[in-house]
Amino acid sequence: VSALELVSVTKAYGETVAVNAITHNFASGSYSCLLGPSGCGKSSTLRMIAGHEVVTEGDILLGSANITDLPPAKRGTAMMFQNYALFPHLSVVDNVAFSQKMQGVERKTRRARAMELLELVHMEAYSERVPDQLSGGQQQRVALARALVTEPQILLLDEPLSALDPFLRTRMRAELKKLQRELGISFIHVTHSQDEALALADDIIVMNNAVIEQSGAPQQVFNAP
Ligand code: ADP
Ligand code: ADP
Repeated sequence: VSALELVSVTKAYGETVAVNAITHNFASGSYSCLLGPSGCGKSSTLRMIAGHEVVTEGDILLGSANITDLPPAKRGTAMMFQNYALFPHLSVVDNVAFSQKMQGVERKTRRARAMELLELVHMEAYSERVPDQLSGGQQQRVALARALVTEPQILLLDEPLSALDPFLRTRMRAELKKLQRELGISFIHVTHSQDEALALADDIIVMNNAVIEQSGAPQQVFNAP
């Protein structure tokens, strides 16, 4: 598993500088939380890492590869979206199988692999349902399986718990952490919740006004003067 490095990465939308020349080295195989208030540039940063947003300036490196300008499916990253973004007309298993299609995986392999991932998130019994027939928490597990089926080195999560009720949120926190440990890949999780970052992160990166203000282990970040 390779480390992800942001080198003086900037994102501008016209006059608005959403991310201002940030540099950071994400340790490989760790759970990182990108923490900060609304509008500080977290989502823009995550979307640039995912390849869903063009980098205005700077470089993104994964191991020895410069992935700055690669398309999303070829970067070794996968993203789980805030609203899960499942295809409403496709069954659960087809939703999970779909992203492999983009990667050119053979049809018969796709379904088998999708079922393996559904087992990993405890959703194998729901494989033939459509998203409408699932609870929010269940849809989220499917979205997680769909992101992981591409075997990314880095999983990117944008406020993944914000739509869940408090009970489910606490439970999914524990499951995300466990999954990250089991898979041994890097998770980069965007949140505006200090509690969430404390509960989950090996490393916390605090953003404010388009820059990184602080980063380090949770104890370091929260005990700093
Ligand atoms: P966060 O995720 O921390 O809430 P964002 O990265 O979404 O922050 O936004 C950072 C800044 O960039 C905000 O001022 C926001 O309004 C602006 N912004 C985000 N996306 C766009 C866009 N597509 N077009 C113009 N401005 C944007
Ligand atoms: P988040 O809360 O995750 O930061 P937002 O609600 O700010 O997301 O943004 C949702 C979408 O709207 C994103 O695709 C973002 O690029 C776009 N967006 C955000 N701010 C602006 C803006 N000021 N102008 C245009 N698009 C924006």
